[in-house]
Amino acid sequence: MRYPEACDVASANSLRRGGKIGYGSGMTIKPLIILPDPVLRQVSAPVETIDDDIRRLADDMLETMYDAPGIGLAAIQIGVPKRLLVLDVTKEGEERSPLVFINPEIVHSSGERSVYEEGCLSIPDYYAEVERPAAITVKYLDREGRKHAVEADGLLATCLQHEIDHLNGVLFIDHISKLKRDMVIRKFTKAAKVRGSRAI
Ligand code: ZN
Repeated sequence: MRYPEACDVASANSLRRGGKIGYGSGMTIKPLIILPDPVLRQVSAPVETIDDDIRRLADDMLETMYDAPGIGLAAIQIGVPKRLLVLDVTKEGEERSPLVFINPEIVHSSGERSVYEEGCLSIPDYYAEVERPAAITVKYLDREGRKHAVEADGLLATCLQHEIDHLNGVLFIDHISKLKRDMVIRKFTKAAKVRGSRAI
């Protein structure tokens, strides 16, 4: 099995980085929406009010992401069409650093581009190289509603772009060749039919 360098599936190393310490009190692991569920193509709506419900949603998303394990998750991946995403791109051995981005918006992208191998919790066990701007500036609100801007590069820039794509109904397979994309969609459509027939 191969492991991606980026988004939103974690590497084998980060999988072992420290269990669930600090997370797991009163939080709920939510089922993930899997390709070709049309929910993944919805455009998410801005979060209007940052309240305890939104903070609980962010906590549940972090719990679900760490459990998967993944390094990023958008709310739509658990079926909630709100512009909210969580990330933790720390490496093995480092302390967890959960990040919550509410209503994130890319305000600048570099001309320079970089390539990472990406995966997605909604497209399990499929990885492909994706080229994106190497650095971006993102404006967002934190879980207390405070405004921030972050200049990101490297893995953080790639993951932020991958997750913000989810908020717009875009998947990383939309950035690969049509031939490869059609193959992946066919494979997952077939698998969904098998799951469906077993459920009856
Ligand atoms: Zn994803």
